[in-house]
Amino acid sequence: MDKAWKLCHSKSDVQNLAYDDVRENTNIGSQYAILACHQAAENIKSCISRRQDGTKASKPTYTSLIVTYDSQTMTVFPEKEQVSLTTYGDHSRVRADLVLPDDEDGYQHQYLDSDEWEPTESTLHYRDGEWYLHLGFRKPKTADEATENGTVLGVDLGVNEIAVTSTARFFSAGELNHKRREFERVRGDLQECGTRNAHRTLEAVSGREDEYVKHVIHSVANGIVEGALRYECDGIVFEELDGIRERLPEAVWHSEWVFNRLYEYVEYKAEAEGLFVETTNPKNTSKRCAECGYIHDDNRPSRDTFECQKCGNQNHADYNAAKNVADVYPRREQQSSRGRGVSQYALKSGTVTPNRGYTPYSTESEVESTDKPHPQRANPSG
Ligand SMILES: [Zn+2]
Repeated sequence: MDKAWKLCHSKSDVQNLAYDDVRENTNIGSQYAILACHQAAENIKSCISRRQDGTKASKPTYTSLIVTYDSQTMTVFPEKEQVSLTTYGDHSRVRADLVLPDDEDGYQHQYLDSDEWEPTESTLHYRDGEWYLHLGFRKPKTADEATENGTVLGVDLGVNEIAVTSTARFFSAGELNHKRREFERVRGDLQECGTRNAHRTLEAVSGREDEYVKHVIHSVANGIVEGALRYECDGIVFEELDGIRERLPEAVWHSEWVFNRLYEYVEYKAEAEGLFVETTNPKNTSKRCAECGYIHDDNRPSRDTFECQKCGNQNHADYNAAKNVADVYPRREQQSSRGRGVSQYALKSGTVTPNRGYTPYSTESEVESTDKPHPQRANPSG
């Protein structure tokens, strides 16, 4: 609240501004941090609208404990008149009885017992030794409303390029790596110096480096989410981050931290736009030809180049991998009864469906692109 007041009031803006601080200064989980930011945004918004109505309203303060829950952190059991809530710090849950009015036709029951409504963001308040749960309800989307040719954007993470999307957008790691080497050199000099003054400067330098790296990650995350929106995707797909250190042995140790942060940033920025973020199994994404599906070690003659030994497809290795990362998702959905209705992934010029192949965007909906062509993208097939 202190950070966002008079600056911004949209959920995503407040989240951008305060999420890192909330995570760093508390031990609450990512979902709680997001919801806390949203809560602050809502309170600022209602304050602004009261002022517009001519009512005096000052910066909201929190006089009692409020925790915001959503369907990820709360489960309601209407028949049992119970609710299960996750607790701070760890991943345990507490189950509590709901104290409802006896009146069976009361409005609480009308929502709880109805199939038309499902619980959504709710707030837990602590007042005078009692806990009050303000349950929120919404009408869920019906199956018909859910999209059936949903599209995903694939993202490959790497060493030379922090990220490459299946729509051929390259986020270079060049400047980041260069700046980090510079920071490292300065730190080395200061460490050698060893004086108390040098120690203080060292801390300041590390703080500046953190700020810089976060700034870069934020802008990459923004670029990825913008891309997903521009190509009308429903979700963004990354490779699983577990084991990424083994898969990218050339990456310096802190890359893992960078990738985790990037995933987190994309996740909350995407959520604010109504997009989902998922991971797919990274097996063979770097060795598989995104055109014909042929998998072989020799398809990767060097780190940056991909050359299919079967069909001759040549491409930037990370771009080929981004397509593979995306391709796994609709295939996985085909094999499961429940899914998000995703059947294709987005390229710069069209979409790819695992069975039917490539469909170019129709001319009316052709997306204007400002992507810089990559020098190594010899044969852009997408
Ligand atoms: Zn091939």
